[in-house]
Amino acid sequence: MTGITFQIIIKGLVQGVGFRPFIFRIAVKHSLTGWVQNTNEGVIIQVTGTAQNINYFLRSLREEAPQAAIIRDISTLQLHTIIFTDFSIKESNNISGEITEISPDIAVCEECLQDMNNPGTRLDYAFINCTNCGPRFTIINDLPYDRAKTTMQQFEMCKDCGKEYIDISNRRFHAQPVACSACGPHYELFVNGNFISKDTNVIIKAGSKSIEEGGVILLKGLGGMHLACDAFNNSAVEKLRNLKNREGKPFAVMFRDLESLKPFAEIEIAEKQSILSWRRPVVLLKKKTNVGNQVLAESVSAGLNLLGVMLPYMPFHYLLFRQLETNAIVLTSGNFSNEPILTENSDALRQFSDITAAVIVHNRDIYNRTDDSVVRIIADKERILRRSRGYVPAPIRTSLNTDGIIAFGAELTNCFCVGKTKNAYLSQHIGDLQEIETVQFYEETILRFIKLFRIKPNLAAVDLHPMYISTRTGFAMNDLPVVQVQHHHAHIASCMAENMIDEKVIGVALDGTGFGTDGNTWGSEFLLCDLNDFERITHFEYIPLPGGDSATEEPWRTAVSYLYKVYGIDFIDLKLKVIENTDAENIRMIINMIDKKINCPLTSGAGRLFDCVASLLDLVQISTFQAEGPMRLESLTISGCDEAYAFTSGQTICFNETIRGIVGDILNGIEKVTIATKFHNTIILAIFDNVNALRKKSGINKVVLSGGVFQNRYLSEGTIDLLLKNNFEVYSHSTVPANDGGLALGQLAVASKRRELLCV
Ligand SMILES: [Zn+2]
Ligand SMILES: [Zn+2]
Repeated sequence: MTGITFQIIIKGLVQGVGFRPFIFRIAVKHSLTGWVQNTNEGVIIQVTGTAQNINYFLRSLREEAPQAAIIRDISTLQLHTIIFTDFSIKESNNISGEITEISPDIAVCEECLQDMNNPGTRLDYAFINCTNCGPRFTIINDLPYDRAKTTMQQFEMCKDCGKEYIDISNRRFHAQPVACSACGPHYELFVNGNFISKDTNVIIKAGSKSIEEGGVILLKGLGGMHLACDAFNNSAVEKLRNLKNREGKPFAVMFRDLESLKPFAEIEIAEKQSILSWRRPVVLLKKKTNVGNQVLAESVSAGLNLLGVMLPYMPFHYLLFRQLETNAIVLTSGNFSNEPILTENSDALRQFSDITAAVIVHNRDIYNRTDDSVVRIIADKERILRRSRGYVPAPIRTSLNTDGIIAFGAELTNCFCVGKTKNAYLSQHIGDLQEIETVQFYEETILRFIKLFRIKPNLAAVDLHPMYISTRTGFAMNDLPVVQVQHHHAHIASCMAENMIDEKVIGVALDGTGFGTDGNTWGSEFLLCDLNDFERITHFEYIPLPGGDSATEEPWRTAVSYLYKVYGIDFIDLKLKVIENTDAENIRMIINMIDKKINCPLTSGAGRLFDCVASLLDLVQISTFQAEGPMRLESLTISGCDEAYAFTSGQTICFNETIRGIVGDILNGIEKVTIATKFHNTIILAIFDNVNALRKKSGINKVVLSGGVFQNRYLSEGTIDLLLKNNFEVYSHSTVPANDGGLALGQLAVASKRRELLCV
């Protein structure tokens, strides 16, 4: 055959996602000859055929690629015509130390679900997968992605699986985790610590019976253990709370399918896309108030208007729902509160045999621990709140040279980040660096990322807080030079890096706490900044935080502090629940602490102002989970209320009049939903007011929003909307969390920029 020959190089996430069989299919379809080869610099293709067919091929390449593939770059080069006899797949080749990207785990695909109905060794086989679906990151321990470098290594393929593995026209061609019941992993059921069965049908029946009888079961998943119970049975959910030692934090619910979810939550188009995506995150939806006869257990997310939902993503989940009568189960990480999700069978059996109705594990080891990811749609865009299974370890592309930088992240909601060329590899959600197990997970995962991505560490980036475990870990690491980055500068830099901005911007960072350059606790920072440095222009007025960290767990303390600031000692006569229901002795103690400046760090944390208002409205006096006050407050917001309270913007932003307005409304019996909404509107106006002043002062029109407060949908949408209406260019987070989980990317960006400037 004659024609012309092109060489095509594709970069992006193209390994382990069924890319080469796809190339083979479309080459054959368009009558092209040549070859395709995986290299660690990307996929290289040479094709010979007519110009028209090569054009069709390139179009198919762009439009029909496998769902989990991410094509970042296609370069084409015409060669002298080469005559090939057919189209073939060449053996993988390592060109250099550069690696291509690793796929995140992919939910089981439709075709595999269909295959589970066929008689044979994959009938109801719970580990079915193909080149388009199955475990990836969770089982991989090194590159290139090859079965021997995964936890599937211990399972020798049977003849039938082996045939499919080498058959280029098969959808399991080079599917590294390929398996069947004759050769692959299996589930095992334990009750009271005793082995019962490894027959999947027996296990499914026993597991679903336990759930339906109101029990809690432990179930091994893709990235770790889960605990599950019937989401309609309140006493079962309460039991789960008790055994996990988790008081109020909402649970995620796995629904049978989209249809069975519809009665319980409102679903917008973008939300539906996220729910159905192959990444299968937990999606936060607005609860429906009118749900008919079946009601989800109150304890799932009591007092909140949000519901975290997901659909089945492992074959086992589908098998379980086939047996279950209930349409929804609570599915939460298998651990005790604050510890990392368990991955080892032996730990699960030791810790959970006595306190669950059944323990169901499998013998495919989990190498990289991942939690379920959590997303929320804000302003029609998916925003990742917790980035783990299905998203990690896809890199974040930046415009910076990040090579060799390790950014150690924050203290709570930690993720760290490593740099390679211009990519930033943000780790999976690690958690709060407070329990020894979490710190071990953190240290171990840093080393794994360095190895996996072939990082040669040459620079560490850490927070300014001297006592953060993450800061100390950075300083202790191989005597690397260390760049310290102020917390809120890092937040803004994170959002800048995600949006590839490298110039001076107006930054608004609103969160709970972060160590400031003046030694105070910051958290409502209006900055003029670039990636190198920042100038703090204004912030919410400082208030004393009686008891420091313990005040963040006890919003009533913050409320007392604000009331004392606004009203002086007369506040104790106000007819407010927080005063009436708090021991007078405790209130006196707080006043004394403030007067004498005993353990009363100054804070400008926006989260504290939300805590104060949540306490004034008597929503939360003592938090049972992080950001409970702000979440309960947001849950009360309603549309159609444009009113706001007064505030003053001067050297700092003062909310004394806001507090007076709120107290006045409470005493006048105004509805809580109105007060909560007016308060949110006030913050939106305060942001706008100060951003506007900054634009006048600086001439800068780009506004970058970051910090955990922007996970608040009402606040984010209101702020973005108002800024856009006033012709600002607004940048917010999407693929990187706005909370401290995204902080490491900002640290990395600042370190990279400072290094670049020093080198120039
Ligand atoms: Zn599949
Ligand atoms: Zn097999």
